[in-house]
Amino acid sequence: MSANAFDVKRIRADFPILHRRVHDKPLVYLDNAATTQKPRQVIDALVNYYSRYNANIHRGIHALAEEATAAYEAVREHTARFLHAPSSRSIVFTRNTTESINLFASAWGRAHLKSGDQILLSEMEHHSNLVPWQLLAKATGATLAFIKMADEGLLKLEELDRLLTPRTKLVAVTQMSNVLGTINPVQEMTRRAHERGALVLIDAAQSVPHLPVDVQQIGCDALAFSSHKMLGPTGVGVLYAREALLESMEPFLGGGEMITDVQLTSSTWNEIPWKFEAGTPNIADVIAFGEALTYLERIGMSAIQAHERELTTYAIQRLREVTGLTIYGPTRAAVERGGAVAFNLEGLHPHDVGTVLDAEGVAVRAGHHCAKPLMRRLGVVATVRASVYLYNTREEIDRLVEAIHAVQAFFSKPTHAKV
Ligand code: PMP
Repeated sequence: MSANAFDVKRIRADFPILHRRVHDKPLVYLDNAATTQKPRQVIDALVNYYSRYNANIHRGIHALAEEATAAYEAVREHTARFLHAPSSRSIVFTRNTTESINLFASAWGRAHLKSGDQILLSEMEHHSNLVPWQLLAKATGATLAFIKMADEGLLKLEELDRLLTPRTKLVAVTQMSNVLGTINPVQEMTRRAHERGALVLIDAAQSVPHLPVDVQQIGCDALAFSSHKMLGPTGVGVLYAREALLESMEPFLGGGEMITDVQLTSSTWNEIPWKFEAGTPNIADVIAFGEALTYLERIGMSAIQAHERELTTYAIQRLREVTGLTIYGPTRAAVERGGAVAFNLEGLHPHDVGTVLDAEGVAVRAGHHCAKPLMRRLGVVATVRASVYLYNTREEIDRLVEAIHAVQAFFSKPTHAKV
């Protein structure tokens, strides 16, 4: 990759927040798996919308409403292109990944699931791809089964064929773990699930922001992700689902916009995807999300993935040099993985580590990362997690490692008892 193709310095210049100081140190933002920072193009799109053409969409007949509707619907088209989806009718805007999965679980589950059916998940799921299925199982009498994980943080795929039974109606699995960085072979998993007659939903909250994703190539039936983890605003999520599937589902929420006709005691539904977008949507943030897509496309998802791969390899190499540091997740060079790196320092609570790192200007996450069953599987209560994005640099990884040494020095003082 040439330096011109990926100019981190130029990218960083677009992100105002990356130039601020935290605790009087230059900010090193390594909490991208939680949410990413926003380029000025996205921030400007919000300001532009509210300053120039703020209006409610779909129902207005005035110029502002038409402009706002066109801009909002253009982002639906754009999202479909970004995912290589066959049509924008497959794209439903929600609030976030969590709502997208809940929408599918509720609307598909109520229409298609019965007692004794099975939903197959994995041990490494985020609570968002766990709790909605627990609720659905409780409501329908369906059961949950789990693909186990080997110690290196890779799913035991050999178990998939055994776990897929005629009762399995859906496989819901993450494409990239928000804790381990593991990339699951979702295309192969989808193929095997389909062979056995099960549908597949992908939690793509950590994959769509970081690597090229083609829903037709994967072959999945549904896929969910959030704008805020890919340079866009908070409050926008996407549910992609095959058109026929959306047609077969009952609405999720009822109200304005999602109907064609309403009588006092009954209603008929709008066409997809609007059938699933009740009430006034998050117009401004969807429009600004379109700018995030444009930004990512301009850099190129493959180039972003390559940059993160290089940074992550460097981070793992540097972190492995630190005495008493354990990394959770794949570390072998041969294993393709994403840029979330979870670790712990011997004898120290991750929250204490995170607090001292923050004092050094380094923002990471410490906690269970909304993956409590995975924490139990790893035998820890929590971890520290550093996660990179397109604007991070090797120098920032060096700052992280220096700050980890500062943590160890701080807690080795006799006055600071270890946990
Ligand atoms: N799934 C995964 C893998 C995630 O990393 C996250 C966010 N941490 C979610 C789902 C939920 O995303 P949101 O909070 O935007 O709904």
